[in-house]
Amino acid sequence: MVLALNLGFPRIGLKRELKKSLESYWKGESSRDDLLKTGKELRLRHWQLQKEAGIDIIPTNDFSYYDHILDAACLFGVVPDRYNWDGGQIDLDTYFAMARGSQKQGRDVIAMEMTKWFDTNYHYIVPELKKGQKFKLSSTKIFDETKEAKDAGFNACPVLIGPVSFLMLAKKAEDFTECRCTLIPDLCNVYIEVCKKLAASGQNWIQLDEPCLALDLEDRYVQAYKDAYAAISKAVPDINIYVPSYFDGLRDNIDLAFSLPVAAIGVDLVRAPDQLDASIAKARETGKHLVLGLIDGRNVWKNNLSASLEKLEKAKAALGPDHVSVSGSCSLLHTPIDLVAETKLDPEVKSWMAYAKQKLDEISVLAKGANLGRHAIEAQLIASDQVAESRKTSRRIHNDAVQKRMAAITPDMAKRKSPFAVRRTVQQADLKLPAFPTTTIGSFPQTNDIRTARAAFKKGELDQDAYTAAMKKEIETVVRYQEEADLDVLVHGEPERNDMVEYFGEQLDGYAFSQNGWVQSYGSRYVKPPIIYGDISRPRPMTVEWSKYAQSLTNRPMKGMLTGPITILCWSFVRDDQSREKTAKQLALAIRDEVVDLEKAGIKVIQIDEPALREGLPLRRADWDAYLKWSVEAFRLSASGVEDSTQIHTHMCYADFNDIIESIGALDADVISIETSRSQMELLAAFGDYKYPNEIGPGVYDIHSPRIPSVEEMALLLDKAVNVLSPGQIWVNPDCGLKTRGWAEVKPALDNMVAAAKQARAKYKASNAA
Ligand code: GLN
Ligand code: ZN
Repeated sequence: MVLALNLGFPRIGLKRELKKSLESYWKGESSRDDLLKTGKELRLRHWQLQKEAGIDIIPTNDFSYYDHILDAACLFGVVPDRYNWDGGQIDLDTYFAMARGSQKQGRDVIAMEMTKWFDTNYHYIVPELKKGQKFKLSSTKIFDETKEAKDAGFNACPVLIGPVSFLMLAKKAEDFTECRCTLIPDLCNVYIEVCKKLAASGQNWIQLDEPCLALDLEDRYVQAYKDAYAAISKAVPDINIYVPSYFDGLRDNIDLAFSLPVAAIGVDLVRAPDQLDASIAKARETGKHLVLGLIDGRNVWKNNLSASLEKLEKAKAALGPDHVSVSGSCSLLHTPIDLVAETKLDPEVKSWMAYAKQKLDEISVLAKGANLGRHAIEAQLIASDQVAESRKTSRRIHNDAVQKRMAAITPDMAKRKSPFAVRRTVQQADLKLPAFPTTTIGSFPQTNDIRTARAAFKKGELDQDAYTAAMKKEIETVVRYQEEADLDVLVHGEPERNDMVEYFGEQLDGYAFSQNGWVQSYGSRYVKPPIIYGDISRPRPMTVEWSKYAQSLTNRPMKGMLTGPITILCWSFVRDDQSREKTAKQLALAIRDEVVDLEKAGIKVIQIDEPALREGLPLRRADWDAYLKWSVEAFRLSASGVEDSTQIHTHMCYADFNDIIESIGALDADVISIETSRSQMELLAAFGDYKYPNEIGPGVYDIHSPRIPSVEEMALLLDKAVNVLSPGQIWVNPDCGLKTRGWAEVKPALDNMVAAAKQARAKYKASNAA
C-alpha cells in the first residue's frame, strides 16, 4: 500500500490558542497546568484532524511549546551553564529561560541565540555546544507525547531532528576548538537510548529529519552521516528509521542519503522536482522505501493532482506499492491550518488555495489514487485541472500596465545619482547629526490601546476619523518620548501597522490577505503572510500621510519606514506560476514610487527594511550568485529614485553576513542597522574585514528579550564595534523594532542606550574628528 504521510503539523491552533496560553503563563496570569492542558488539547485535536483526513501514520513530538530544536537540545541535555541546570529533567521555566532569557526569581540570564530555520521565516533556538559537551537524556517529551497519541488510539510515529542536522544547526562555544563531529558517538548514544525506549514501548518507526542532507556538505559531515546512522541502526535493528530531507534537492548527496542504513528516505519534489528519477533509481538499487514529498509545505496553492499522481504512479511502477509513500514536501508547520477559517477571501482566489488541512486531503487523495487507480479520485482530478486552467487565464492575475512597466526598466533606474562619499557630505550638511547618532528600527510598543483601536477600525466599529485621531495621538506620544529621550533620528512608531509585510500587502494590487492565515515565526510570535496571487501595483501612496504628520511634530529628522521588495517577497506566500525574480521587481517598482513620494513630502531619511535578504538565499552555493544579483538589483530599484540628500537606511535582523557582505555593500544604502547584541558583536566581524564603506548601526539592545540592558553593557558593545569599524561610521540603535516589548522595558532600555551613545561620543571624540 502506498501510504499517506505527514512530516509535521502546525502547533499554534486555529484560534492561536497556544499563543494566548503561553503569553498568559509568561505574564503569571495562568498556571503551568493551564498551559499543559492547552498543549494536550491542541495535540489531540491535530492528531484527530490528520487521521480524519486519511493520513496513515501520525507524527508526534512535532508539537512544541516554543521550538522543536530547543526541545531536542533539552532531550539531549544541551543546556548552557548560565542556566544553572541541576542535571535532572529540564523544567518548563528553565526551558523558557533558554528560549527568552529571564529576569525572574533572582535569575538574570540572557536568552540563547535564535536564527532562521533554513530559508523559511521560522526561527529556531541555536543549541550551544560547550567544550567537552556530553549528552544525556534529559526530557521525556518525545516518549510522553508518543504514548499520549497511542493511548488515544493513533498510529503514531515520533519525529526528531536527526543527529547530524542537530549538530550542524548548533553553534560551538569559543573554546570548543575540535570538530563538532567528534561529538557524534556520544550524541548517537542518546539517540540509541531514545530508539530503544521507543522500541520497548512497541514503537517500530521513528522519523529523523535530516534537512541538512539538502545542503552543500563538507567531507567531515558526509562521514558524520555515515558514522551516525551506522551506529544507530546497528544498536537498534528493531526500529525502522525514516529520514526525510527537505527544502532543496539531495543533488550530490543523493548517494550518501540512499547509502544510509535506514528504511526510508523522503525527498522534496516541490523544491527539486528534477530529483524524481534519480530518487526512484536509488531507492530501487538500495531497496529503500521512497517517500515522495509532492504537496508544497511552504505555500498555499492547491496541488496539481494529475501531475503529482503521474509521479507517484511512476515510482509505484518502479518500486512496488509497499516501497512508495506520499507526503508534504516538508512539515506543514510553515502553512496556516485551515482554509475554512477564511470567510472573506475573494472566492476566485480562495478556489486556488489550500492550507494544512486541505493539503492533508491532497496527500491522502494521491495515496488513494495510487492505490485504487485514477478512477477512484476522478472528481478530484477534474477539479484540480480546472484550477490550473483558471489560474493561467484569470484577469485577476494578469495586468498589462504592470507588464509594460517591467519591460521599460533601465539599468540607470537602479543607481543613485552620486557615489556614497558625495552623498554623505550632502547628507551631513543637511542632517547635522552628532557622532554615534541614535535611532530606533521603527516600531514602538504595540499597546493594547493600539491593537484595540486597529481591530475596532477593521471591524467597522471605529470610523476613519476616530481611528486616524487615535493613531495620531500614538504617534505624538512616541515623538514626544523620543525627543525627551534625546534620540537623534526619530520614527513615528508604526502604530498603524499590524505587520510589516501585511500592511503593504493590503495596499497593493495583486495581493490577497487572509483573516486566519497565521504561521509561527518564533515562540509565540506568529505572522500572517499576505498572498501574492497576481501582478503587483501600487494604486496610491501607502505611508506618506503618517510620515508627514509625524515630521510636522518635530524639528528632528523623521525616518520614513518601508519594507523592501525582497522581504515582502520572502514573507509573503508567492505565486508559483512566475519566477521570484519577476515578482520581486514588480514589488520594487511599487516601493520605488513610495520612496519618491516620501521624499516629495519632505522626509529626508527613509528606511527600507530588508531583514529577509539573507534568508532568501538559496540553500546551495551554486544558486547564490543568481539570487544575489536580482535581489540586490530589486532593492536598488526601490531605493534609487531619490536625490543625494535623501538618506536611505536599510535594516536586517538575524543575519550572519559573512557570506553575503559584498552584496550588502552593493545595496549601497547610506546606513544599515543590523542585529548583533545577542552574539556580542560577533556578527560585526564581516563588516570590519570587508571594510564596509557606508554607515552602520550594530544593534546594542536585544529586543527579543524582556531584559533591560545596562549603560555599561551597551557601552561595552560599542567599544567592541569601535574595534572593527571607524567611530565615524557607527550608529547606535536596538537590534530590531520594539513592537513586541512594553513601554516599561523600552523606556529605561532606550534611556540607557542614549547614555551609552553619549559616553561613546565623549570617549571617541578625537578619533571621530580625525
Ligand atoms: N521597521 C520594522 C519594525 O521596527 C522592522 C522589523 C524587522 O526588521 N523585523 O518593526
Ligand atoms: Zn529587525
